[in-house]
Amino acid sequence: MKRKIVLICSTVLIVTVTVCCSVLLNQTKTAILALTYRQAAEKQASLRTSFAEMCDYYTTEGDSQAVKRSLIHYCFTRFADSSAVLILDGETVYSVSQIKPEEYMELDVLNSQKQFTGKIRDKQYLIVGSQMRLGALPGANCSVYVVEDITYVYQNMHRMMWQFLWISSMCSIFGLGAIMVLVKRSMRPLGKLQKAASDIADGNYRHRADVNSRDEVGALAVSFNRMAQSVQDRVEELTETARRQQLFIGGVTHEFKTPLTAILLSADTLQNTYMTEEEQMDALARIEAQGKWLERLVQKMWKLLTINRDISLQTISVPELLRRVRESTSETLRSRDVSLEIHCDLQSLQGDPDLLQSALVNLVDNASKASSPGQVVQLRAFDNVLEVSDNGIGIPRESLEHVTDAFYMVDKSRSKKLGGAGLGLALVKEIAAAHGADMEIESELGHGTTVRIRFAQ
Ligand code: ATP
Ligand code: MG
Repeated sequence: MKRKIVLICSTVLIVTVTVCCSVLLNQTKTAILALTYRQAAEKQASLRTSFAEMCDYYTTEGDSQAVKRSLIHYCFTRFADSSAVLILDGETVYSVSQIKPEEYMELDVLNSQKQFTGKIRDKQYLIVGSQMRLGALPGANCSVYVVEDITYVYQNMHRMMWQFLWISSMCSIFGLGAIMVLVKRSMRPLGKLQKAASDIADGNYRHRADVNSRDEVGALAVSFNRMAQSVQDRVEELTETARRQQLFIGGVTHEFKTPLTAILLSADTLQNTYMTEEEQMDALARIEAQGKWLERLVQKMWKLLTINRDISLQTISVPELLRRVRESTSETLRSRDVSLEIHCDLQSLQGDPDLLQSALVNLVDNASKASSPGQVVQLRAFDNVLEVSDNGIGIPRESLEHVTDAFYMVDKSRSKKLGGAGLGLALVKEIAAAHGADMEIESELGHGTTVRIRFAQ
């Protein structure tokens, strides 16, 4: 592309310069020659007139032929210079020019003034001549010539031609340089765009074209960057979806093994072993318990997978939200002999009520699992903050940054015994992120834990 533009511009430039120079040179040559011809013609005409007048003045009728001829010669020399030539009846009366009249006598000189230009012995001559009648010698054939050596005119024109050639070559070279610089400069933004496009094609979706020009290329770069942004967003979205799906599949295969094995074992025992009715009821209860556990697991994982980051927010009543949380957790809290205290200093909040209820239920569930019987779990709402705290076992410092990872449990056997799968805090973190809120965990081993969801003001 760059090469094509440079080639086209250079050709146009060179052709233009050549044509302009040729036309200019030709016109200058014509003008100089015309001027030279005119000067020579005027000189010849004036010489002829002055010479004729002087002859008429000096000669008289009574003069002999010889006297008349010498008077004619005298009169002519009064006006003649080195270029003047006088021929009388074919005989050269006056000529000091380097070329002899015989060399240009074939020139057809009639009554009117004639011009002749040509090369005679390596020199360029301009000859202007005409025939005239002399009063002193009425029957004689008299011709007056001006023979100008105009070699210098041609030499000057030749020198001028070379100067033109040199100037036009320099102009072409500078023009070419300027074209190349301009093309390079105007192509640079396109190069940046091309680099950004190839980077994005290589998977570097964060790359943007750094073009600040205000022309069409600048507008193209803005559109390109917008396109790159939407490609990046889409790719991140797809990557996130793929990650969640991966999580789901990994979780399913990992977490489903134990309950499924238990279900299959109990079913096998029921089929192949003799059991009392009581034992059969026990086996069926185990199957039911494992089945319910599987159901809960699927629900939590599905929620984790399908939380949409673009949830629609609405104004929700915080006291109502906290009441629903109490209702949902009351059964579990009673079974663990843990009580829930609610402090509400916040009336409304922007959010999704179901998701926020789910998050708080998970936090209260965790707090109650960590508490000893008789302890109290606090649920507070204030200054755009929802907070759950307990005085339970606490989380070791090194585990703090991992507790929000899916399937992470500080004490696996303890958590599993309490029906945990390590998905609750991962879900709370997702819900907080979907609300644009921050999740903070403060914990001291043996003293308790506080989890806060802090909403943007
Ligand atoms: P699930 O919530 O899926 O039923 P879970 O409660 O074990 O299972 P998370 O809620 O994700 O999983 O919590 C992860 C781990 O963090 C828990 O297993 C527990 O070890 C620890 N943890 C969470 N909350 C508290 C808390 N309030 N006090 C002490 N440890 C906690
Ligand atoms: Mg939990």
